[in-house]
Amino acid sequence: MVKPFVPQLVYIEPRALDYPLGRELKDKFEKMGVEIRQTTSHNQVRNLPGDNHFQQYRVAKSTLVIGVRKTLKFDTSKPSAEYAIPFATGCMGHCHYCYLQTTMGSKPYIRTYVNVDEIFEAADQYMAERAPEFTRFEASCTSDIVGVDHLTHTLKKAIEHFGVSEFGKLRFVTKFAHVDHLLDAKHNEKTRFRFSMNADYVIKYLEPGTSRLDERIEAAAKVAKAGYPLGFIIAPIYLYDDWKAGYQTLFEKLEAKLPAYATKNLTFELIQHRFTKPAKRVIEKNYPMTKLEMDEEKRQYKWGRYGIGKYVYKKDEQTDIKETLGGYIEKFFPKAELEYFT
Ligand code: SF4
Repeated sequence: MVKPFVPQLVYIEPRALDYPLGRELKDKFEKMGVEIRQTTSHNQVRNLPGDNHFQQYRVAKSTLVIGVRKTLKFDTSKPSAEYAIPFATGCMGHCHYCYLQTTMGSKPYIRTYVNVDEIFEAADQYMAERAPEFTRFEASCTSDIVGVDHLTHTLKKAIEHFGVSEFGKLRFVTKFAHVDHLLDAKHNEKTRFRFSMNADYVIKYLEPGTSRLDERIEAAAKVAKAGYPLGFIIAPIYLYDDWKAGYQTLFEKLEAKLPAYATKNLTFELIQHRFTKPAKRVIEKNYPMTKLEMDEEKRQYKWGRYGIGKYVYKKDEQTDIKETLGGYIEKFFPKAELEYFT
């Protein structure tokens, strides 16, 4: 069982203490006996304990920086939402293929922003611009927000904020099962709560530090019972020796545990494993013993933006993935919607 995250080290930017959440978190970590350091800016978070990159990377992944979000201009987040809403960056998990390894580069620590009301005000303006169209906000573009939310409750406030909004919707995805504090949030069905799921083998060997498969399924069942619209992202779909049986077991378990009514408004997103050359180099540095297969020869090259192409599975394998997993969705969840396969 993966325990809820507790940072080893906390940094606080002085301006964060101008906000109630900043002060609340400072008190909380003092009482918990976690080491707290002051910093004028997160860019000054240097000299983390550890003798080499490998150790410092691990310390950073269990360091929390409490800060203020300065830019309130949101990035776009197509195709699943209009905007990325920034509540946190970084993650305590150690998934070997995590995209944050390349996007966060030398700053892999976790940051949480305490000026939550200002972030909501910015979101309200974006909604007003598009009304009466709905505006969807994605809360997990730069972190696994659920993984840290038992400490901050920022996501819970966001769920309730969008719950009473007229034209706003929230969505996020998680690999963590620590959802109990979110179950009584007044979501008004405006939040789609998604879990990232995978075959047991993949979670076991490639996603250390995240909740295990059975824990995630149990959490998904609780979320469904709390009336949230539910979704699953099966990602990355990874072809190991016995992948068809592994993914079939996943679907069997999901069907057995989910309440039948939850399966009527269920969404699936399917994403095959891919890597870029720069990502491969970073992964080999951060997780030198990984079992993750990244052999360019076995893959198909797909041209990408900014000249950085991806290595995806070969065409016939992609067809096999689509047919196999698409088949499981049809068989086990005939009323669910498959949003995309990529
Ligand atoms: Fe990255 Fe998600 Fe794994 Fe966290 S849980 S390490 S964000 S892939």
